Amino acid sequence: IVEYSKRGSIEVIVGPMYAGKSEELIRRVNRAKIADLKVLTFKPAIDDRYCSNNITSHNGKKMGCTVVESAKEIKEYIEKEDFDVLAIDEVQFFGEGVIEICQKAAEEGKRVIVSGLDMDFRGEPFNVTPNLMAIGEYVTKLTAICRVCKMPATRTQRLVNGEPAKYSDPIIMVGAKESYEARCRRCHRVIK
Ligand code: ADP
Ligand code: ZN
Repeated sequence: IVEYSKRGSIEVIVGPMYAGKSEELIRRVNRAKIADLKVLTFKPAIDDRYCSNNITSHNGKKMGCTVVESAKEIKEYIEKEDFDVLAIDEVQFFGEGVIEICQKAAEEGKRVIVSGLDMDFRGEPFNVTPNLMAIGEYVTKLTAICRVCKMPATRTQRLVNGEPAKYSDPIIMVGAKESYEARCRRCHRVIK
């Protein structure tokens, strides 16, 4: 990745949960800040994993960010600000509009860094992420460690009351105890 380039580009960081996507985004943004670049960082309001105005990785690394409800809000925000780098975490939770925002910023010479899940719990391509991977200059696909066999994990296992989730299970399940873990292709289960 050409960090000093004045040309715009899109960097995409993907992988399953626990792969270190947030950690990597934080690392890149910190380096950009050390280089005195003005960075605007966003995450969707849907991600209420930890305290709100921060991107927080699973190992406790933190960075301030702006929480937005939609891609449109990012657009409105960046139109008013001068910046060099646009960073977006949990990009899979934004709608199609986020693609155009990233493209426009890159075409205007900005460095765009996005991170997000490339697959949903079923192991299928997740919303806008695959499209961003296609149009981005640099794609970094990270792996976690499979909780079952300890090999590199590329997928996110969804568990409902400790059992693999069904293909058709709704995203929000009232009253159920839900959890997610990193798994490899062999250990990943989706009940049909
Ligand atoms: P992501 O944004 O991809 O969900 P994070 O950056 O939030 O990942 O967290 C990555 C950190 O999670 C790792 O550095 C490690 O400390 C921790 N971790 C917990 N479980 C796992 C696992 N199964 N595989 C790899 N890292 C894990
Ligand atoms: Zn495994």
